[in-house]
Amino acid sequence: MSAVASPGPVALNDPLVYLSVSGEAEMVPLSEARIPVLDRGFIFGDGVYEVVPIYAGRAFRIDQHLARLARSLNAISIPNPFTLGEWKDRIAQLVDAFHRSHGIDDQFVYMQVTRGVAKRGHAFPKGIVPTVFMMTSPLVLPSHEVRAKGVVAVTQTDNRWMRCDIKSVSLLGNVLMAEHAAAHGAIETILFRDGFLTEGSSSNVWVVKDDVLRAPPKDNRILEGIRYGLISELAEKNGMRFAIGPIAEADVRQADEVILSSATKEVVPVVAIDGVAVGDGEVGPWFGRLYGWYQDAKAEALGAH
Ligand code: PLP
Repeated sequence: MSAVASPGPVALNDPLVYLSVSGEAEMVPLSEARIPVLDRGFIFGDGVYEVVPIYAGRAFRIDQHLARLARSLNAISIPNPFTLGEWKDRIAQLVDAFHRSHGIDDQFVYMQVTRGVAKRGHAFPKGIVPTVFMMTSPLVLPSHEVRAKGVVAVTQTDNRWMRCDIKSVSLLGNVLMAEHAAAHGAIETILFRDGFLTEGSSSNVWVVKDDVLRAPPKDNRILEGIRYGLISELAEKNGMRFAIGPIAEADVRQADEVILSSATKEVVPVVAIDGVAVGDGEVGPWFGRLYGWYQDAKAEALGAH
């Protein structure tokens, strides 16, 4: 499929977005993008999404993001509307349009696919076309100060459904947990299910104890972040000991370091949980190394283009 023609210049605060409803695709200013109220994303949260970081105009780890999108779609039986190449073309077109309108090259692309538009009824309707929405925004990474001082987190019981491996737009559980963090002046809510660490409301959680980097298992209880794969590769490449397995709540609370990862945070050090210091309450040395390896991986990916 060829890329979609864009309209003329757009206002700075009103970037072009990609929208395809019932097979009709267009690039329109965000303020003009419309979906029918019977879209199943709106009615049921029946859809999945991705968030891809863009550095200097280039999508980072795009193959991994598109593979996860394909897995999420497959898990809920929505046909993938595009080939890999078509996804990449559309992302490139959006990123390029934003570069031209806003002059910003560090962005993050949000893309969402819902089952489509149909008369309301829970079971899958036959013969509908998935709705695709894509937009891009400036990527504002955590500041140097945040990385130097660290952030605080709170905790809650993880009461979400048991398919957290699907990157679903049905995010009510995560929304309530993120709000819990915001209401307590924290950056993130760290979740425990049956006494074991799962993840954050919108991040994966890493624990360092005795120089070993630990992560919970990649199963249906967590979303396997694209940074989960990246950080495990970085640990391996740089000779940091790395262990995947169940992490008891007490091990998180007694960790030397706790680190969050996500597309828009990269990696962030947690220095207090529920008002109690993590380790000595300072940003730890492994965070600094991991952050450096992460920046090297970005530079390497850019160099490879
Ligand atoms: N877990 C949840 C619940 C998330 O929402 C996210 C990202 O938003 C992650 C983990 C981290 O995933 P990624 O590294 O792909 O951003």
